[in-house]
Amino acid sequence: MRMRPTLSWTPDEDLPPGTTDLGPVSDALEAGGVLVLSGAGISTESGIPDYRGEGGSLSRHTPMTYQDFTGSEQARRRYWARSHLGWRTFGRALPNAGHRAVAAFARHGLLSGVITQNVDGLHQAAGSGGVVELHGSLARVVCLSCGTYSPRRELAARLEEANAGFEPVAAGINPDGDADLTDEQVGDFRVVPCANCGGVLKPDVVFFGEAVPPRRVEHCRALVREAASLLVLGSSLTVMSGLRFVRQAAEAGTPVLIINRDPTRGDRHALSRIALPLGAALTSLAERLDIPAGPQAELG
Ligand SMILES: [Zn+2]
Repeated sequence: MRMRPTLSWTPDEDLPPGTTDLGPVSDALEAGGVLVLSGAGISTESGIPDYRGEGGSLSRHTPMTYQDFTGSEQARRRYWARSHLGWRTFGRALPNAGHRAVAAFARHGLLSGVITQNVDGLHQAAGSGGVVELHGSLARVVCLSCGTYSPRRELAARLEEANAGFEPVAAGINPDGDADLTDEQVGDFRVVPCANCGGVLKPDVVFFGEAVPPRRVEHCRALVREAASLLVLGSSLTVMSGLRFVRQAAEAGTPVLIINRDPTRGDRHALSRIALPLGAALTSLAERLDIPAGPQAELG
């Protein structure tokens, strides 16, 4: 029997409550060496919904697993039809005040690095450099046979050509970039093979049920070791891929701070969880630190 990855987590009743005091985060930023770990919550204000929390999409959508994707042609057809439609929204998404504030903190030398669980590229679009994309990027495609990487926009153009007139109206879009479509709407969507070898193409993202590449994990572990503090932004830390870095920091005595509206699986390892909306919280922090982070701030 195949195990499905765990996608939900129920908060324990004895978790410490969230606060609205940004003081500890402000102090940490002022001290510098802050490692940011961001999740879907930082991108919701850019129109990309979170899986969890209020209005989360998990209730109506189960993310594609690696096993499903590699094991079935029909699953790949369904994935690429949904993902192709979702890409039209993802491709248009713009960074928000939260992404801009993180980029501003980095420009002012307050951060030691940025690790993101998001695959939307919005930190980089806001001007952050050296971002570690823990779960990969939707903007790249990899061939499972020959290993060639190619830009998503090239695949998108080929899929447009192969599927003229594919214009279904999706019920919603998910943080890993795919739209909600019924099997009927997916219909006979045509998937295109690797232009190099004819192999199966996969987005360069880590699917549920797939391991993050070990070298990437090791790089993140090194970033956590070097950080003066770890600041989690907009992640429920439900999946181990992010939670393990919080545990690593806590075990080493490195302060962990979390800004997330809802309780997270990392709360018991954190000095505090600030239950504020991210755009407002990060903008307010930038103001406290007298760092311009508005839309007018120049990008690098
Ligand atoms: Zn290939």
